[in-house]
Amino acid sequence: MKKQLTVLFALALFSFSNFTSCQQAPVIDEAEVTRIISTLAADDMEGRRTFTPGIDKAAKFIAGEFQKTGLEYLDGLNSYQQKFNMYSLTPESASVTINGKTIAEEDILASVSAQSFELKDVTNAQVFTIPAGTDFQATFNEARRAEGKRVVLVDPSHKNLFTRYKGFFTRANRVMELDAANGMVMAITKATSLKSVDIKVTNTMEENALGNVAAKITGNRTNEIVVFSGHYDHLGIRGVEGDTIYNGANDDASGTTAVLTLAKYFKDMGTKPERTIIFVAFTAEEMGGFGSRYFSQQLNPDEIVAMFNIEMIGKPAVSGPNTAWITGFDKSDFGTLLQKAVEGTEYEFYADPYPTQNLFYRSDNATLARLGVPAHTISTTPIDVDPDYHKSSDEVSTLDMAHMTNTIKAISSAAERIISGTDTPTRVDPAGLN
Ligand SMILES: [Zn+2]
Repeated sequence: MKKQLTVLFALALFSFSNFTSCQQAPVIDEAEVTRIISTLAADDMEGRRTFTPGIDKAAKFIAGEFQKTGLEYLDGLNSYQQKFNMYSLTPESASVTINGKTIAEEDILASVSAQSFELKDVTNAQVFTIPAGTDFQATFNEARRAEGKRVVLVDPSHKNLFTRYKGFFTRANRVMELDAANGMVMAITKATSLKSVDIKVTNTMEENALGNVAAKITGNRTNEIVVFSGHYDHLGIRGVEGDTIYNGANDDASGTTAVLTLAKYFKDMGTKPERTIIFVAFTAEEMGGFGSRYFSQQLNPDEIVAMFNIEMIGKPAVSGPNTAWITGFDKSDFGTLLQKAVEGTEYEFYADPYPTQNLFYRSDNATLARLGVPAHTISTTPIDVDPDYHKSSDEVSTLDMAHMTNTIKAISSAAERIISGTDTPTRVDPAGLN
């Protein structure tokens, strides 16, 4: 009897433990988090600068992790790599004649989106003027944001500032699309209106490949998508002395690690999620957010119900460990939903404590937010006092792995009600953005 009882008891125990292991959520494990971030931020990734072998190596590692986890490719792709090309345009020559007068080379600043650019008809031009005593930068920004063929007539009194801007624009200009009908040409001139014009600008052009790394778990609702993102590029190798490798452990190997860890977490749930989930590591964030821009053009932004962009979660926030802040808190109710979702736990979400730093606009979330997506960045970095931000000292050894693991756990539970379709954040109004 006794023996049989024991067997029965053991059987009961076995089936009970079997039952609980099916029901239990997968574990987000500190050792695994440490393994991933240490690989991404290792010296052999050479700082993961876009267009370098270091970032290619990082892309392969990320794709390998997605593969191990058993995730799907994005629609239309046959690998986890979402590749695209960019053009690098370096000014070669520019000739400008305004109202019959030839402008000296040093008085020309040209920023055009093609290998060659011409303008001979004043009716095709949008004209801006920067007279003496007016705000150079304001008109410059206005002209820069405008589209089409733009001519900016700059009064000679602005020559010093003009020369500084020109120095910056003689470096290579990277564009995603070539467009010979788009360009801005500035000239130092006494002219205040354009009666005749003859402009020819030539660039040397180089084409380079780059890419995001992305994966998917298809849910019951294929046209309702939740995105988790972080950028895997950083600043590369700089300088010649001392530690020249900018490892970008916090910025943003930490966010990329979160994306990989969350991908495994949601896949290991073993059940098909209600909403479709996309996990993406963006390229070229540090160069101007080109990876997220390309990504946003490959799907319908109206189908993205929320975007969790994760940036720098390796150091506890000024409000202490087990807290994170969310940028653009007032731009949708995404942040409020996350706050409610973790109510009663030891973790708390706050609004971004650095509103003057415009952090909402300084990461990949902004590209999607401009398309109406409730796209916000979650971060814990004490950015105002962090001695390692954008320094070669941004190493794994400066990070707090327990805090980072807890943050990823908090994001996973905060996201559950959105993934299950229970909560849907309100859309961002692009008209209300800067
Ligand atoms: Zn970053």
